[in-house]
Amino acid sequence: MPDHDDELLQRLRRFHDDAFPRYEQHFKALVDEGQHPTTPFIGCSDSRLVPHLLTGAQPGELFLVRNVGALVPPYDGSAGYHGTAAAIEFAVLQLQVQRIVVCGHSHCGAMQALYGEVSPEARNLNVWLDLAREAALPVVPTPEALRRTEQRAVVLQLERLMDYPMVRRRVQARELTLHGWHYVIEDGEVHVFDVRRGAFVPASRAEHSGTGPYKDGPGEAQELFNEIGGQWPPRG
Ligand SMILES: [Zn+2]
Repeated sequence: MPDHDDELLQRLRRFHDDAFPRYEQHFKALVDEGQHPTTPFIGCSDSRLVPHLLTGAQPGELFLVRNVGALVPPYDGSAGYHGTAAAIEFAVLQLQVQRIVVCGHSHCGAMQALYGEVSPEARNLNVWLDLAREAALPVVPTPEALRRTEQRAVVLQLERLMDYPMVRRRVQARELTLHGWHYVIEDGEVHVFDVRRGAFVPASRAEHSGTGPYKDGPGEAQELFNEIGGQWPPRG
């Protein structure tokens, strides 16, 4: 018997009947020619972060990788199975993407959790958050401290991305750029990490969508990257 209260089912039908016809040719081409996304988007799972709205991307452009906190696990796989690490490898080696976005956001529950208690039953979550602990500040988590933590966490993940040999190699060959973003939900504005300034700059005033380490050539890439490692985020 049909369940008329099943709203999700209604939405699926509406997509097929109303929305899909508008995209049909586009999707058919993406099937015939395969996907060639330009941008893996490593974003927090938070429901308020909507990558396609932010970037105006069409189907086939973003390779979405989402997890709690927009975190990047270590390349060595030491902590177990990692869908995120596998996605990074696939995107860079197979899809040959041109840039990688890491996007954190304001009011991030994962970053708040660094300052509080997480249920011991959430074993995986507790271990996962270790990937951001270095971003936490030894202070009371004021809104300002949380924002800095969110931004520091983004930079930490960029650092960890550079430990992936295929990422480092392609960044240094200037075939790939890294973009650290912090999305402020209530302002509808992304703040872009500018490695030269060691700061996040609102997109309205930024000169680029991310310096990624590293447009300026192989030698400089390494140097700029060391700069982040040494100065940003400030340790301790
Ligand atoms: Zn979040």
